Order: sequence, then C-alpha cells, then structure tokens
Amino acid sequence: MKRPSLRVQLVGVFVLLYSVPFIIFIVWMMDHVQKDFLEEVDGQLEMVAAKIDSLFEKEGKEISKTKDVIHSFATLLDPSHTLFVSVDSETIFRSANFPFNISSIVIPEGSQFATVRKGDVWYRVYQKRSNGLVTHIADNITILEHTIAESRLLLFAYIPLVVIISVVTGFLLVGRILRPLDNIIIKAREISSENLNQRIPNPNTDDEISRLVTTLNEMIERLERSFSRMERFTANASHELRTPLTILKGELAVVLQRERTAEEYREIMKSNYEEVSRIASTVERLFMLAKIDSNLIPVEREIVDLGALVEEVYSEGMTLGKESNITLELDIQDRVVMRGDVILLTQMLLNLVENAVKFNHPSGTVRISLERIDGVARVSVADTGIGIPEHLLNRIFERFYRIKTGSTARNAGAGLGLSIVQWIVDIHGGTIEVSSRPGSGSTFSVFLPVHT
Ligand code: ADP
Repeated sequence: MKRPSLRVQLVGVFVLLYSVPFIIFIVWMMDHVQKDFLEEVDGQLEMVAAKIDSLFEKEGKEISKTKDVIHSFATLLDPSHTLFVSVDSETIFRSANFPFNISSIVIPEGSQFATVRKGDVWYRVYQKRSNGLVTHIADNITILEHTIAESRLLLFAYIPLVVIISVVTGFLLVGRILRPLDNIIIKAREISSENLNQRIPNPNTDDEISRLVTTLNEMIERLERSFSRMERFTANASHELRTPLTILKGELAVVLQRERTAEEYREIMKSNYEEVSRIASTVERLFMLAKIDSNLIPVEREIVDLGALVEEVYSEGMTLGKESNITLELDIQDRVVMRGDVILLTQMLLNLVENAVKFNHPSGTVRISLERIDGVARVSVADTGIGIPEHLLNRIFERFYRIKTGSTARNAGAGLGLSIVQWIVDIHGGTIEVSSRPGSGSTFSVFLPVHT
C-alpha cells in the first residue's frame, strides 16, 4: 500500500494528539462529576441512617415510642427522601411513597449503597442492618442522573466537532510548516543544467529547513563546478583535436591539387603521420582523463621493483632521445620496491622522460635517477632543456596548460601529460616537485612511499 503523504501523516498525528486527550478528559470528567454527586447523596443518606440509629438507641426497644419519634423525624426529611424502618422484622415506619417492596428482601448485617432504576425513576438506596434494626432510605436522583446523562451526551456530541477543528487546524499548521519545503521544491524544479548558477533562497532560520537548503545549494554548487569543468574539458578537447585535424586537412588539400613526386609524397606522408600520431596521443590522454574522472581506472597494488621500472623507462627514453641526439643517463643509488600499479607508474615516468626529451636543447642530456631518502623513494628526471619560468611551475600540472613559447611550439602536446602524472602520483600516495632554471633545465622529482 502506498504510504500517505508527509502532510497527511503529520495531520494524523496532530489530530490524535489533539483529540484523544480531549476524549479521555471528557470521559474522566463525567465519571468524576457523577462520583462527586453520588458521594454527596450517599453522605446525606448516611446522616439520615445515623440519626435513625441514634433515635432508636435513645428510645430503646420501646417500639410504640420509637414509632412516634421516627414518624415525626420523617416529616422533617427532604421530600426526595423516602424511608422504611423495621425492627426485628416488624415494620415501624414506611414513607407513603417508599418505592420498593422489601418484605421479601433478606438484608445482610452491615450497610450498602445501590443505584436502582424503577421505571423512569432513579433511586440511590442505602440499606443498613444492625441489631435487628433495618433502615432503608431511598433518594430520588432522577434529575441528577438525567442531568449527567444529558451533559455526557452533549460533551460527546462535541467530539466530531473537536476532530473537525483539529483536522482543519492540523492542515493549516502543517501547511505552514511545510510551506518552506514547497518553496524549495518549486525552486529546485526550476534549476536545470542551463541555470546551475541559481541557488535556492535560504531562510537562514538556523533550523532543519535552513540546513537542507544549505546542503542542496552546496550540491548544486558541486554540480555547477563539475558541469563547467566538463564544458571546459569538452571545449579544450575539441580545440586540441581541431588544430592538428585542420593542419592535416590543409596538407592533404594542397597535396591533392596536382601530381607529386614520390619524394614529395613521402615528405607529406611523414608530416601527416606526425599529426595523426599527435591526434592519437591526445585522444588516448583524453580518454584516460575521462576514465580518471569517472573512476574507471583500476589501480593494482602489486609489489613493484622501482629499479627495474626505471631501467625499462631509461631504455625507452634512449630510443626517444636518439632522434634529437639527446643523451640519457641512469643513476640508481638504491634498489627500492613499492606497492603500486606497474603500468601506471611506468606511464608516469615515461611522460616525464618524454617531456625532458621534448623540451630539451638539441644534444642535451636527460638524467633519470632513483634513490631512497628517509624511507621514501625519490625518482627524478632532470634535463638540460629550456626550463620553466618560476611563476608557471604550478600551472604546468593543469589540464590543457602549455607554456606558449616559440621553442615549445614545435613540440606542443595537448598539455595533458602532467595532469595524468599528477593523478598517478596522487593515487600512489606520493608527491611531485619541480625545480627549474629557465634556459638551463628542469628537474621533476617524484617521492613515493616505499614497501618494506
Ligand atoms: P604536453 O603534452 O604539452 O607535454 P604536459 O602536461 O606534459 O603537456 O606539460 C605541460 C607543459 O609544461 C608543456 O607544454 C611545457 O610547456 C611544460 N613542460 C613540461 N615538462 C617540461 C620540461 N621538462 N621542460 C620544460 N617545460 C616543460
């Protein structure tokens, strides 16, 4: 079954809290009033009985005298009281309108009260027997019983009214409580990817509603940030792909204009190959970053021999360096092992070595070294290249950031390599530092936790 709405649930609770105590109060009050009245009536009946007791005691067993005394006493009684008195089964007095036939009733020793109905008339009856004296006093309480019954009826008639009032009040009250929530819902519905800069107005009431609005606004802010990051990423990615594609298209258009010699074709194909390689590498990095953002890259935690890894990257670097006549040097001071993903760690170091080769002067040097300092592995890649201005040392780790100088233009990548390097270092619990002297070279040092 579908759960009723929060509004209906709250109104239900309100009605219960409001009307149940009212009903309990009415029932309790009516009982109490009835008991109070009866106690008063009973008191009077007891007093009359006590008086008869004392008259009887005074006059002793002299029946004729007692008869007279009780007779004159009975004339003084309240007209609602009727009396029956007998001594040793002999009737001494019976009020003319005494309502019961009691000759057949066997009255036990002691006293008792009872409420008795006879036709339309209600009586409160007190019976007492002691030492052969039997006293019955009946008080007509019809008016009292009727009044109580009518009052009870009247008050019970109020119950539906109370329930209706509590439902209406409940709806108004709950509506008032929930109105800020309705406002939040309306505003939240208005916010979509097109207007993520909007926020839900905060009532600043320092309560749950205010906290809810703050939390929602924080969430919208996070969404806005990740949306704009995605937008920037898409724009940058398209830009990065468009440039080499435009070059490629232009070159192909030119070459197709007329017949070329085999040598010319080779030259153009070579240039095309470079552009395509660049596009492929950019696409690969974009793909990797997209997977990084979606947490889709599995990270292994195996034992990695950093010495062996550095040696492998060194020999790949030698191949890279050969083209620009760059010399590679290897300096392994300590054998170090760590827990990590060998493929990602290799990619990280290879990126650094690629940059060191790419941004080097012709015939420069790249030195890859590994050492252990204070229980941490330090892998560094130092080059003798163009260097990086101090104020840009942090910016080079941003996605798509490249230092735009004439000398780097020819090597320009998409500016994605170092952001991937940074991510790989981070997920291995390491840090990366750069020191550089523009014109004479840079050193990238990666510090990684060692496995002991
Ligand atoms: P790219 O694909 O352009 O190499 P990176 O993220 O790897 O992208 O590097 C970002 C920028 O940092 C490079 O464009 C370059 O300007 C600068 N850079 C990176 N490594 C070096 C280096 N060893 N020497 C000088 N500049 C570097």
